[in-house]
Amino acid sequence: MLHSNIKAFKCSSCSKEYKERRTYEIHLTRVHGIGNAKVPVREKKYLLAKEVGHARKGGADF
Ligand SMILES: [Zn+2]
Repeated sequence: MLHSNIKAFKCSSCSKEYKERRTYEIHLTRVHGIGNAKVPVREKKYLLAKEVGHARKGGADF
């Protein structure tokens, strides 16, 4: 069986390779800050939730 693993989009800033242009563009935007691809909102919400969790730490103990 032949394994056709063609990846059309190679990142020039790191060694990542992507089959889909959209995924590749999201990678560029997220990791390297290149371009303006729309980063999935779900992920943003998750990151925000994490930050809120951290902010709760260290309340007044008076
Ligand atoms: Zn990259």
